[in-house]
Amino acid sequence: MPIRNLTPTTEVPSPSLEEVPLSSFDLFTVGIGPSSSHTVGPMRAAASFAADLAEHGMLDTVASLTVRLYGSLAATGAGHGTMSAVLIGLEGRLPDQVLPAEMETILARIESSGTLKLAGIHELAFREADIALHPLTVLDGHPNGMKFAAIAADGEPVLEATYFSIGGGFIYREGDNRDGSSATADAPIADPLPFRTAAQLLAHCRNEGLSFSGVMLRNELARRTQAEVNSGLLHIRDVMDECKNNSLERTGNLPGTLNVRRRAPDWHRRLREEDPNRDPAFWQEWVNLVALAVNEENASGGRVVTAPTNGAAGIIPAVLFYAVHYAPGMKDADQAKKDDATVRFLLASAAVGVLYKRMASISGAEVGCQGEVGSASSMAAAGLAEILGGTPEQVENAAEIAMEHNLGLTCDPIGGLVQIPCIERNAIAAAKAINAAKMALWGDGTHRVSLDEVIITMAETGKDMSSRYKETSMGGLAVNVVEC
Ligand code: SF4
Repeated sequence: MPIRNLTPTTEVPSPSLEEVPLSSFDLFTVGIGPSSSHTVGPMRAAASFAADLAEHGMLDTVASLTVRLYGSLAATGAGHGTMSAVLIGLEGRLPDQVLPAEMETILARIESSGTLKLAGIHELAFREADIALHPLTVLDGHPNGMKFAAIAADGEPVLEATYFSIGGGFIYREGDNRDGSSATADAPIADPLPFRTAAQLLAHCRNEGLSFSGVMLRNELARRTQAEVNSGLLHIRDVMDECKNNSLERTGNLPGTLNVRRRAPDWHRRLREEDPNRDPAFWQEWVNLVALAVNEENASGGRVVTAPTNGAAGIIPAVLFYAVHYAPGMKDADQAKKDDATVRFLLASAAVGVLYKRMASISGAEVGCQGEVGSASSMAAAGLAEILGGTPEQVENAAEIAMEHNLGLTCDPIGGLVQIPCIERNAIAAAKAINAAKMALWGDGTHRVSLDEVIITMAETGKDMSSRYKETSMGGLAVNVVEC
């Protein structure tokens, strides 16, 4: 049966995203663990608020601050490092500009002095305990809401703003568009091959004779040179590698009350002994290792690439590792060939990430873990299928299979920490992605359920899911497992 050129008829969220170009560099960003929506997004929101005060010359008039966190941010903020992220953001620092060690120094200074430097300049009394938490209140707009207010000495507000952290580190301010762009700003440069559905993406592939990565590249080239795209994506790969390598050097338990033991360093030692020559029989163990290492680093508050979120950050690096080490012809390939495969893998993955961002959500607080781990698994499956030589139809099929078997996945992190089930879940989802790509490559691209149908199903399943399973730690493993 041929693939239907399906146009979704079901209402899907975020229609305002339709016109807005989404780049690979929006989906893959350098951030700080443990959570893109609860750490990276709040840091960006706080930094944006501080920058607005600075840009409008208001800093000197600010005598006090109020910060309120709502819904999921308040419910699991402690385990996700949200309050620390807000403080760092209020100091004017962004997730890609601050190293974890610097964050510790800044937070220790704020705690001991009881003051912070707003936008890095204006000192005023404020510390973590001053952040008000409202876990049972959900603002209109998104479960991850934040309100900031800067107050003058006479009690009058200087500036007030409400922000939402909508997954993957993306934020928007109330009054702006949901993609974060200002409602009044000039329109960004449009994609030459715009798409919001897989059917549209496939149509571009057929009409232009392009792969998924080729369509994504054509759109990237509207805003960047080919050299910039290549170097930017290889930098993303390098940060993923650095994240894994940092993790393998660490010892002891992960932070928090769960006393979760780091497994990646021990597994690495064992693998180097048992598989010194990269025998293909050990591919699964290496993929597991990469996923665990990245997610243990994320859980430690380390530097990670949101791919497309922090909680799911290990899946794409693990499957990319498989692609450049175990795909046919890759074991002895030179670096140029591996780099080329890496760029194509990340572009194809990003093309699928665009679909999830536009048609559904990548926020665990909005649609559960299917939106984070499921989306990452689906993106990785597409990237691998393309490197394995899949046609656009087979790549679409791979992405569809991976999400189909992540539907309904709930978010119930124990203790609000991005550790259990998150870390192992990344390794399992990486294996699913590899299997999905292999299954798709053994077919001819025709299949019964389209990627669009499965994405819409994910969005609707997320909408129906109880809030107890959407990053609130009020259900599932979070309430059935004793924390200590
Ligand atoms: S369960 Fe999934 S969505 Fe929830 S925090 Fe863990 S990785 Fe993120």
